[in-house]
Amino acid sequence: MRPRLALVLAVLVLSPLVALAWLGVRLTDGEDRAVQVRFDGVIAARLDETAEAVKRVIAALEGDLLAATDDLPPDAPALRSRLRAERRLGHVLVFDGEARLSFPPPDGPLSADERAFLERTRGLWENRDFARPAAGDAAQDGGVVPGWYIWFWAGGLNLMYRRPLPDGRTVAVEVDRPRLLAAVIAALPTTERAPSTGTERLTLVDSSGRVVYQWGAWEPPAGLSPRLERALPPPLEAWRLTWSGPPPPAPSMAGLYAGLAGVALALLGLALWFYRASTAELRRAARRVSFVNQVSHELKTPLTNIRMYAELLDDALWDADDRTRRHLGVIVDESQRLSRLIGNILTFARHQRDRLTLRPTPHRPDALVEGVLAQFEPAFAAKGITIEADLDAEHRAALDADAVGQILANLLGNVEKYAADGGRVTVSTRQPGDTLRLTVADAGPGVDKAHRARIFEPFYRVSDRLSDGVAGTGIGLGIARTLARLHGGDLVLEPSAVGARFTATFAAPRAEPAGGAAREELS
Ligand code: ADP
Repeated sequence: MRPRLALVLAVLVLSPLVALAWLGVRLTDGEDRAVQVRFDGVIAARLDETAEAVKRVIAALEGDLLAATDDLPPDAPALRSRLRAERRLGHVLVFDGEARLSFPPPDGPLSADERAFLERTRGLWENRDFARPAAGDAAQDGGVVPGWYIWFWAGGLNLMYRRPLPDGRTVAVEVDRPRLLAAVIAALPTTERAPSTGTERLTLVDSSGRVVYQWGAWEPPAGLSPRLERALPPPLEAWRLTWSGPPPPAPSMAGLYAGLAGVALALLGLALWFYRASTAELRRAARRVSFVNQVSHELKTPLTNIRMYAELLDDALWDADDRTRRHLGVIVDESQRLSRLIGNILTFARHQRDRLTLRPTPHRPDALVEGVLAQFEPAFAAKGITIEADLDAEHRAALDADAVGQILANLLGNVEKYAADGGRVTVSTRQPGDTLRLTVADAGPGVDKAHRARIFEPFYRVSDRLSDGVAGTGIGLGIARTLARLHGGDLVLEPSAVGARFTATFAAPRAEPAGGAAREELS
């Protein structure tokens, strides 16, 4: 009983704890993910801000180039002196209205610098499409759309800014790479603001994967790729801004774990309290059973004496008047009833303690039955119940006489209590092979269908109302069934047209071969 109680309590305590722990892990996980997302959001915002600053640098550069090329002189010498004076312009390619290169003049006298420039941009100016209006919108405007032209040369990205001039020419200005880089870097976070604690690193990587700028003291472990990347705005989309740094600290779950531990402790405390309370109750119940057991034992001996002397008196006063003999009969009947009750209580208590065992010895079944019937005769006669005995179990067989007697006495006691109105009871025995069958059928009210299965449960009574006037404990039929089962048989309530019909079966191996002479039972 107790191990089962402990097991139930353990399941009751452990299942909510496991559920809570699972919930805790899920919450931790969810919180951790939320922190990562927030963290990435902050970094992404910073990278976007930086990219935005670079965009502004490029827009300013575009503005400068447009202003510086607005009124370019037509001939080469004037252009040359203009280029020398204009710091915002480096090398330029100028094309006439037919998209032919007019400056630097490809077949005119050139400086060494101009020659080198023409040499490295040959792929551009030899391609007539470079300075010709593109199809679509640009063609309607009658010229090249102002904008950037990217080409890769000398292991890196080079930029040309191309625009149409009011006089029909097209000019392409080469953007000086170091200058562009300096302008972009000026827009990035300055090194003075770099944290010395080393919590992050921001890098600018050019189109060939070279780190051209680095900010922040954090040293990423070898092989760790950046946490976030952003391409710079056009025309520098081949360049990337990257962010690396240690992951954000995991959210503190100390509060949650403390809460879980608190709930666990409370549950454990509750389970312990419940366990102690219920085991104390079990101990008290066991003490009560043991007390009833002791008292019943104490009652047994004086009661046996009362019964024995009453029977002796009954014999001795055979010639006494009717009244005296009736009074003696009541004493005998009532002491028999009390003996049965005490017998039932003691059997029940033994069964509760798993100490109920049977000791079958050879008996003639009908002799046992006749002995019990004789005890009931006076009480039945007083209540007007006739006994019809249909006995046919003559062969000595291994039976526990007390068990058979107790079962029959309980069944007959019930007839006396509940079926006296029927006026008769039939007790029959049969002995097919090594089995004994004993049936008690009355003509009383019978047992309602709803109660048929339950009347064998301990303490179950169809009605407990004292006003019904029938005393009982509700253990008689249960004990009778237990005894029959211990005897290798059963006790059942059989369907019948009138009254109640109980049949008990017993495994009763015969003590003599079938058909042998039946001897009178002496014991
Ligand atoms: P008790 O007689 O002490 O109440 P039992 O276990 O012997 O306990 O019987 C259980 C219930 O079954 C009884 O309360 C009674 O209602 C019903 N019962 C038993 N025998 C009969 C019977 N022969 N006729 C009608 N009802 C019966």
